[in-house]
Amino acid sequence: MEPDTERMVQILNKIDDVLHCPRCDLKLSRTHVVVGNGPLGAKIFLIGEAPGRDEDRKAEPFVGAAGRILNGLLEKGGIHRKDVYVTNVVKCRPPENQTPRDYEIEACHPYLQKQLEVISPKVIVLLGKTAAETMLGRRVEPGKEHGTVVEKDGVKYLITYHPAAMIYKRTLMDTMAEDFKKISALFGD
Ligand code: URA
Ligand code: SF4
Repeated sequence: MEPDTERMVQILNKIDDVLHCPRCDLKLSRTHVVVGNGPLGAKIFLIGEAPGRDEDRKAEPFVGAAGRILNGLLEKGGIHRKDVYVTNVVKCRPPENQTPRDYEIEACHPYLQKQLEVISPKVIVLLGKTAAETMLGRRVEPGKEHGTVVEKDGVKYLITYHPAAMIYKRTLMDTMAEDFKKISALFGD
């Protein structure tokens, strides 16, 4: 485990024993808890939905097909993956990759809140509907709102699609790449 990930685990352990977390039923379907990775000083913080099969095996976020797409999008936006913090709304893989349920999202939320508090990024990128609705507390249609920056309680959020949407709809790739270019234009150094 990288030193920053280890430090994050220590911080999250104040909430509960995060690597053996018992807080919701997703504990039954996971192999590994996927806390997230990236530097604690990251200015850009990405939130996905939930770990998939590859993430569950490797205990790392976005390392499968969606992760490869995400890396390509970051690169096109001129952003290095090693400079951003990446995590998910829930830290454990749901059975058959179902969308996490509200109570699971709620049970896991203190970890996400703590991660945001510790990192205090300049912008939070919401990858898809689940992340956007969780963080903004309202219904979101990424098809209608992608590419927009929303401010809530003094925090800036950029809404975009989930990278997995590109697997089924390649034509969205250019659109999503434009959203990612906005990140560095607005918040890069
Ligand atoms: N999809 C997500 O939402 N998160 C991951 O970590 C991988 C795939
Ligand atoms: Fe705990 Fe979150 Fe995993 Fe549920 S999803 S068991 S709250 S770490």
